Amino acid sequence: MGIDGNTILGAKPEKSIGLKYIGMRNEQAACYAAQAIGYLTGKPGVCLGVSGPGMLHCIGGMANAQVNCWPLLVIAGSCAEDHEGIGGFQEWPQVDSSRMYCKYAARPPSARLIPLHVEKAVRLASAGRPGVSYLDMPGTLLMSEVEEDKVPLDFYSAEPVSLGHPNPALVEQAAKLLTEAQRPLIIVGKGAAYGRAEDAIRKLVNTTKIPFLPTPMGKGVVEDESSLCVSAARTQALLKADAILLLGARLNWMLHFGQPPRFAPDVKIIQVDISPEEFHNSVKSEVAVHSDISPFVEQLTNKLAEKKFSMVPSNNNWWKTLSEKQKANAAFVKAQAENTSVPLNYYAVFKTIQDNIPKDSVIVSEGANTMDIGRGMLLNNQPRHRLDAGTFGTMGGYYIYGVKVGPGFAIAAAMWCRDYAPGKRVVCVEGDSAFGFSGMELETMFRYKLPVVVIIVNNNGIYSGLDKETFKELQDGGDPTQMTPPTSLSGEVHYEKMMEMFNETGYLCRTTDEIKDALKKAMATTDKPSLINILIDPQSNRKPQTFNWLTESKL
Ligand code: ADP
Ligand code: MG
Repeated sequence: MGIDGNTILGAKPEKSIGLKYIGMRNEQAACYAAQAIGYLTGKPGVCLGVSGPGMLHCIGGMANAQVNCWPLLVIAGSCAEDHEGIGGFQEWPQVDSSRMYCKYAARPPSARLIPLHVEKAVRLASAGRPGVSYLDMPGTLLMSEVEEDKVPLDFYSAEPVSLGHPNPALVEQAAKLLTEAQRPLIIVGKGAAYGRAEDAIRKLVNTTKIPFLPTPMGKGVVEDESSLCVSAARTQALLKADAILLLGARLNWMLHFGQPPRFAPDVKIIQVDISPEEFHNSVKSEVAVHSDISPFVEQLTNKLAEKKFSMVPSNNNWWKTLSEKQKANAAFVKAQAENTSVPLNYYAVFKTIQDNIPKDSVIVSEGANTMDIGRGMLLNNQPRHRLDAGTFGTMGGYYIYGVKVGPGFAIAAAMWCRDYAPGKRVVCVEGDSAFGFSGMELETMFRYKLPVVVIIVNNNGIYSGLDKETFKELQDGGDPTQMTPPTSLSGEVHYEKMMEMFNETGYLCRTTDEIKDALKKAMATTDKPSLINILIDPQSNRKPQTFNWLTESKL
């Protein structure tokens, strides 16, 4: 992913050298796109930026990749070295600035050493727990020359470093703990998705019948539609479990730190992670296994089979507790979703979307509300088919699923589909506030013929907005800088009209029938993006929760 098409100065390319270049409209969106490529393919995507402001606009994206443990390489031009210190053009201490957001940051000291630093940057971004590398390319370096036979290249033939395998004694301890537990639970995180552990985890879940709970991006490692998925009883499952097998997820805010009041105080955690630094953060793990997830899970599955361990849901009390809760929650959601009165509520919108998109779509969606409503209603049956706000909570319309990362992620996902899963669709569910962050990437989607279906769930604001009439009344009542509530955006903005800039038609929907019709047309469109603007009830909210989504302060 790169930015600034000017670097090729409009010249017609003579021949392709195999590098895929996506010129985006904004460095930050480019940086999100490149890291999503890293997550989806397992190899770092590259984000190119210009010097100074260009490089600084990448920083938000770099932080997001680093916090999510996704591989990314950022390369930026920088001020010529002989202009440094005397006020050079776009001069900025770029290597220093990037350090906090990186595993590796360097400025190659000479042209001869560029390959050495590129190799190291790619290796560090990918190795162990993935993350970000930054390479700084001053103008003077880019203009310099070197004789080819003086360039050290032999290390490129090195074998990729394989990830660690588990200590067998720890597999035994984990198996013992699970077999002795009354209420075991498996939590599947996005580390399991990134680690391509789906086959192993599916086998473990299906043979042991231990209930599992995916984190938002852990969804699809095992099918959301599996009867062993207890997402609909998430609160109960976390609260009551006495042993938890944590596969590639951290006990951070997303899992309520693994602490009371959301978890039982005496719950025993078996934590499996490729990064030993992660163990015992927040709570002490009973069994801490430093390993790649797949080999651990394979060995554990064998060990549990030796012990003939399997829970039969129909005559198991733990399963009974969870099933009752699942039924009650499902009934609530069903009632909401069937209420299709206008203006629409979230549940009705999500159900209509879910019912009218292909089941194998890649879903880009995020925010606190989607992490609850969307997690339950937009289903994933394949791994790495959901891209969302992630660990850093990078979202535009805070709370009401904004998607600040959305267009960049969606572009990456559409590129991935084109190369690895032709015909598969990308559905990008955006809040109206979020769409404002990088909505102009719609032009990028047109330029590269990416058939992303952008759905704007428009509630006239951040959190929640006001209805059109109240908004107008307030604004007409005096100075708009004093009268406009800070979370309000303009009422009923016709975002779908952006399609007209490209001589195309977007869709404005107020009813579920209009959404169905728009989705049908969008799914038939395969060579360009579609835009569906859904006006919902600005006051629509999620169902009452037992706990606040962020636990109380610890101080
Ligand atoms: P989630 O958002 O789903 O809770 P996190 O991003 O918090 O997931 O955690 C993912 C964890 O997975 C990280 O601690 C990372 O080190 C770990 N991880 C990544 N790849 C692997 C792998 N192949 N094997 C084991 N752990 C992994
Ligand atoms: Mg909104």
